[in-house]
Amino acid sequence: AAATGGKKTQSGNFEIGLPNTDKGVVTRFPPEPSGYLHIGHAKAAMLNQYFAKMYNGKMIVRFDDTNPSKEKQEYQDSILEDLSLLGIHGDRVTFTSDYFQELYDLCVQMIKDGKAYCDDTPQEKMRDERFNGIASENRDKSVADNLQIFTEEMKNATEKGRSYCVRAKISVDDPNKALRDPVIYRCNVETPHHRTGSQWKLYPTYDFACPAVDSIEGVTHALRTIEYRDRNDQYAWMLNALNLRKVDIWDFARLNFIKTLLSKRKLTKLVDMGRVWGWDDPRFPTVRGIRRRGMTIEALRDFIISQGPSKNIVNLDWTLIWAINKKVIDPVAPRFTALWKDGVVEADVIGEEAKESSEEKPKHKKNPSVGTKKVHYGPRILIDQVDAQSFKQGEEVTLMDCGNAFIETIEKDGDKVTKLTIKLHLAGDFKKTEKKITWLATNQDLVDIELVDFDYLITKDKLEEEDKMEDFLNDNTEFRVSGVADVNVKDVQQGEIIQFERKGYFRCDKPWAQGEKAVFFNIPTGKEERKK
Ligand code: ATP
Ligand code: MG
Ligand code: MG
Repeated sequence: AAATGGKKTQSGNFEIGLPNTDKGVVTRFPPEPSGYLHIGHAKAAMLNQYFAKMYNGKMIVRFDDTNPSKEKQEYQDSILEDLSLLGIHGDRVTFTSDYFQELYDLCVQMIKDGKAYCDDTPQEKMRDERFNGIASENRDKSVADNLQIFTEEMKNATEKGRSYCVRAKISVDDPNKALRDPVIYRCNVETPHHRTGSQWKLYPTYDFACPAVDSIEGVTHALRTIEYRDRNDQYAWMLNALNLRKVDIWDFARLNFIKTLLSKRKLTKLVDMGRVWGWDDPRFPTVRGIRRRGMTIEALRDFIISQGPSKNIVNLDWTLIWAINKKVIDPVAPRFTALWKDGVVEADVIGEEAKESSEEKPKHKKNPSVGTKKVHYGPRILIDQVDAQSFKQGEEVTLMDCGNAFIETIEKDGDKVTKLTIKLHLAGDFKKTEKKITWLATNQDLVDIELVDFDYLITKDKLEEEDKMEDFLNDNTEFRVSGVADVNVKDVQQGEIIQFERKGYFRCDKPWAQGEKAVFFNIPTGKEERKK
């Protein structure tokens, strides 16, 4: 089982392995610098690193930069930063563009060997012929003609050259359509390449460059998502035709989530449409987006390794990964208090024990290493409207971090509570009360905050090929409420993950500053109810 996929060990961990590892292992992660990394790429990168480590091998990060129309330096830089955030450092960083000369020479060789030909069949017609298993009329062009077109017309991207592409001569009508003379080279003069500028006017396709560079760079195991399975024979054919060393292919399942787009092209569109704030939007499945939402790298890694060997392409729910994340953050997230500003109720605190003071209390009751905070006590406190509405006169409740109290009087305007009087009863047993109430004394510099929650960008669980993305965009994805928090929240730093007691886990997106609210993003825990 280890050779083909994996099996679950008794401890519940997956045991996954690669075949043919006796001569060493070299893996590679080959992102195209055409967008920011998303969680699917993170899976591919983490699996490659996992295997390289497991066999004391090496991992190459290779930019698959063969289409200048889509690629940019900005994306290249961000991909390296994101990999480093994920704890992934390739043993080497390479570029397919470093091999443009070698790839060109290999293509010349293939033409000379009669294994490739130049074709100017119009795109539509070519698609039609491939679909129906009809040979191109250029298929039997002479080697001399092919060489002239490739090395003169296409290389210089003359008008004639630009109407041609090069196709590998594999099969006209193989049942596996990936083998029907795939395109291996085409001209592109629209955009200069972000690394090689205008030096090249023709570029290899992925189908040609990927196997060739894998082999040249010493890759032993090429990990690919399962949709490429039909192209495995083509990959092997290329290496054979080029007389290059063979490479093993190991397929894994593509990661998909419900109501989530994992395609750089579609994500780019959402950015361009202004549907999100940018590539690091907390609603985005990018590495930056999910981090900004409060996902930890540890949880991401645990999740991906647990999914590792599965070859089933499923549409995952986000709940599992957020539940794993909660287990990571709960033991270390400091606790603070926040109330919703809307409808907040003032309460007078009476009784002999009522005092104006402050005390150092732990930020996390079960984890002293998280530190302490100052809890303020005073004659006037604030309580959430929903809590106030639940009170009955005379009821005994527990004020968290304080003690028990009786609800003495409740003033109302309709259903709305406008004022409370509370009498402390600190000798009371907190185990006997039903309600543990969050509250804030007004004799501290309360911090204005904004709590933000998000919904999916997409309204349909799974977008089909024929679905137009624009028809399934959720118009209401951002929910903001104002709040107040205890004075200790002034010190919460950007990126810090905390818990507001009884409100949930949050990541600080913008720390408090004089005159400006602190902004907190709600972190899902995998248990939330679906928003309406
Ligand atoms: P996109 O459609 O988002 O552009 P891609 O496959 O074209 O994806 P690449 O940059 O070429 O993007 O991908 C780099 C690596 O990441 C490839 O090995 C690819 O198989 C893998 N990968 C991309 N998307 C996923 C996914 N959803 N799940 C697992 N691996 C993925
Ligand atoms: Mg790609
Ligand atoms: Mg793609």
